[in-house]
Amino acid sequence: MEGSDLLPFVGCSPVPPASSEPCKAPGMGGICEGLIDGPGGDGWRDLPEFAESLIARIADLFGAAREGLVCMCLHPRRPARASSDYRIVAASGRFAHLASQRLTDIDDPHVSASLSKALRERRSAIGERAATLFFPEPDGAGFAALLAGGEALRDVDGQLLTAFRTSIALSATHIRQTARLREFAFVDQMLGLPNRAAFIRALDKAIANGRIAGRTVGLIDIDQFVEINDMFGDQYGDILLGSIARRLAEALREHCLIARVAGDTFAVFGDDARVTPDRLHPLFARPFEMEGVAHPVSVCMGFVRCGEGAESGTVLLKNASIALKRAKAEGQGKSGYYSAAVGIRIREHSRLLHELHLAYERRHLSLVYQPQVSLSTGATLGIEALLRWRTEDGDFVPPDVFVPIAERSGLIVDIGAWVLCTALRALSALDRAGFPGLRMAINVSAAQFAQAGILEKLDHALDKAGIAPDRLELEITESVAVVGMKDVADLLGQIRQRGISVAIDDFGTGFSSLSYLDSLPADRLKIDRSFVALLDAARPGGRIAETIVSLGHRLDMTVLAEGVENEAQAAMLRALGCDAAQGYLYARPMPLEELPAWLERQQDSPGRGT
Ligand code: C2E
Ligand code: MG
Ligand code: MG
Repeated sequence: MEGSDLLPFVGCSPVPPASSEPCKAPGMGGICEGLIDGPGGDGWRDLPEFAESLIARIADLFGAAREGLVCMCLHPRRPARASSDYRIVAASGRFAHLASQRLTDIDDPHVSASLSKALRERRSAIGERAATLFFPEPDGAGFAALLAGGEALRDVDGQLLTAFRTSIALSATHIRQTARLREFAFVDQMLGLPNRAAFIRALDKAIANGRIAGRTVGLIDIDQFVEINDMFGDQYGDILLGSIARRLAEALREHCLIARVAGDTFAVFGDDARVTPDRLHPLFARPFEMEGVAHPVSVCMGFVRCGEGAESGTVLLKNASIALKRAKAEGQGKSGYYSAAVGIRIREHSRLLHELHLAYERRHLSLVYQPQVSLSTGATLGIEALLRWRTEDGDFVPPDVFVPIAERSGLIVDIGAWVLCTALRALSALDRAGFPGLRMAINVSAAQFAQAGILEKLDHALDKAGIAPDRLELEITESVAVVGMKDVADLLGQIRQRGISVAIDDFGTGFSSLSYLDSLPADRLKIDRSFVALLDAARPGGRIAETIVSLGHRLDMTVLAEGVENEAQAAMLRALGCDAAQGYLYARPMPLEELPAWLERQQDSPGRGT
């Protein structure tokens, strides 16, 4: 379907309406008057103005009366194809009543015949009663002017008249081109609706004019549009978009501004009471008729009330997008309003993510190491590498805050690869410093399991550091199960075949611990520190730690307790048969430089906590 064919449906006819009113931009409602530039916007209003001044200029130049009319095609997208494409765009004197009429509707046979002839033959004709001038435009189009009293032009030198006509035609072309350029920048070419830039500009204008309070911006996003396109083809998707644009325009254009701001996202701007989920959702209750087949469409919507404090059109649209994103996360057909609290949280997240990227690139991330000790002998078995991020201000951002952000953005894959290499390098440094044979545990996120080539990366890192695979342990949490239980189980099997061990971290805090445990092969179970904390309170919670210890042993795993902070907890865990422990009782996580001194002290007096 050609773009221009949609125009009449969305509120803009390609030529001005019969009244002298300028053509309104599509999707432009009453409240939005003057907010939008586009076909019929300021750019296209320049042509009638120009035509009016043309009559005066010809008359003054050649000493004729200011009585005449100009006939042009005002189609925003293409030159005229038929007589009906031409209109009287300016008229004065005894022709004034013909203003805005289509060429084909003019009931003065002399006028319509003269103009039609000039346009058809692309020639000027100077007669007794009138002079009809043709102005040839370089793109093949042209327009005509008819002036009363031809005698004034009779004696004008032919060459002078041609030069005059050509220069006037060039000015008209220039106006047309400027208008077209403006239109390209602000009109969605497929639907003829204002585009994102136009919508933002309209909001900015509304803010500047103090017409923003009491208004709402709503975003309407078609559910599964990508799938619709994939399944039925892009053309079908385009037709659907056209139908949706029409329905929105029919229902809302009187009172609201409608735009297409992204592929399958429409924006609506209007009064708070009109732009609401309750008003907009029903527009999608009826299926869309597509090539004779009813196509039901569901949409998600995000709204922002503009209020007095709206900063800019861009910010309003962004806030509406935040609301939309949250609605989409809830599922199809959902909608919601933006709230400042949500906005602050999301902005904080994106600020942190940006800073985290920089920190990673500038090597401001570091690792600290926390020993893991045997509960029976007190010997150091291994160390866990834990990430630290120190910001430019010298503050530490806790990993519980930044690791989830890195996970969501995928940055954890790069960071994780760096952790692996750095931790293994630290292990070989400890070997060289006289503390051989320790095991290094690193935390691995689900996204790292989902990436291709994780096995090769592990092999390569071990190779490069000269570390045997059985000295590396990967700590995983239940979140890896989201990758797909079977895939993860296969992968873990291959990892363990290499001799790399696997520990299940934070055990007991997930929601499906048991089924998960049964299907994922692992060597060690780490009791989450929340259960360890319950031990010394002598509350029934201690029974959970007990259960985890026996469960781990039943499944042929060793059990390590996290977050052991005091002797009482250590003693109870030992009594429960727990194999190993980690926690502040033994050591806080420390930088690599401090580890040799700690290990030396521990070798000298391994009894602590045993
Ligand atoms: P996690 O793997 O369970 O690490 C143990 C957390 O307990 C660490 O917190 C550690 O400092 C803390 N901890 C150790 N002993 C005690 C104790 O006695 N008492 C208390 N209250 N806490 C103790 P941290 O370093 O803040 O790390 C938090 C979480 O961030 C880690 O939990 C892990 O899930 C994640 N994380 C840390 N480094 C990495 C990493 O390199 N990659 C990934 N994917 N996640 C990481
Ligand atoms: Mg861990
Ligand atoms: Mg843990």
